Amino acid sequence: MQNTDKKEAPSIYKDRNVQILLSKFLDEKVESIEPVYDPKTGYHYPMVESILGDRSQVEPFLDKLYAAGILERKLYDKVIFCPKCDSANISVRYSCPFCKSFNIKKSALIEHIKCGYIDVEDNFLEEDLCHCPKCKEQLKKVDVDYRKAGIWCTCDECSKSFDIPLVINLCRNCRTNFTFEECVIKDVYVYTITENIKTESLLNWSIIATIREILAEKGFKVESPAILKGKSGANHSFDIAAYKDADDKRMIVLDLAATSQKVVSEQPVISLFAKIFDVSPEKAYLIAIPKLSENGKKMAELYKITAIEARNQEEAMASLKKNLET
Ligand SMILES: [Zn+2]
Ligand SMILES: [Zn+2]
Ligand SMILES: [Zn+2]
Repeated sequence: MQNTDKKEAPSIYKDRNVQILLSKFLDEKVESIEPVYDPKTGYHYPMVESILGDRSQVEPFLDKLYAAGILERKLYDKVIFCPKCDSANISVRYSCPFCKSFNIKKSALIEHIKCGYIDVEDNFLEEDLCHCPKCKEQLKKVDVDYRKAGIWCTCDECSKSFDIPLVINLCRNCRTNFTFEECVIKDVYVYTITENIKTESLLNWSIIATIREILAEKGFKVESPAILKGKSGANHSFDIAAYKDADDKRMIVLDLAATSQKVVSEQPVISLFAKIFDVSPEKAYLIAIPKLSENGKKMAELYKITAIEARNQEEAMASLKKNLET
């Protein structure tokens, strides 16, 4: 399928994995590619992994589709990685800023509103009742008799007190301690298909699906998309390849070039020619919607490519049907 509007995109659409991913959005109505959290390895994308078969390829693959404007992304989370072993199995330790021990006790600070005395919660509690340690008055109602005045920490190692603990990360994998300055943070995204790509692809998808039906009605076996090996040994991808039976070498191939511009350039003609030169099918079709450039038409004639120009899907189907009968 040739998306002639986006300069960088056409070759990306020829990638079988990209086609499978797009079909998830278009055929299976998947709405987004969401990351799934694994406590040991961090976030991953099982759906994309199942397409690529290799987890290490998932990130570059999604980055490529995002850069080409096929996918949009939204920040989903940020993950901390160990600077030493790259593990995402990280624990946060609130520690004493004086001796760095994580053996600290966190208490609430309470203020007796009437006398203004402030102390840690424990000092207000006496035989399950709340009393002000200074004026001994019993405190019953929060925000009437007393209020929470913040947090106070005490270190059980060095006995010092502080209000803001030091945050130290521990890698559960290699047991390395590291601070915020040393940690590696990676953004994690949720991906969706770009709306105009979806609309265009849906149109192309529906044209290809209809052509497949027409060919099947005429007794053809249809592959779509089809990867065919040429004489050179290279693989070539066509939107559709059709043949009567496996032994029959009289195969027809077809590419679709739809654009929302006025004309389709000669580029898809050149690309189709390069492929059929190597694959040698009986017949090659290029469906150009809405129109093929003059240069493209001349080249198609020279290269013996049957160019079908059509303003829309219905017109394309009607001319293709007529053409298959001759
Ligand atoms: Zn580590
Ligand atoms: Zn301490
Ligand atoms: Zn008091």
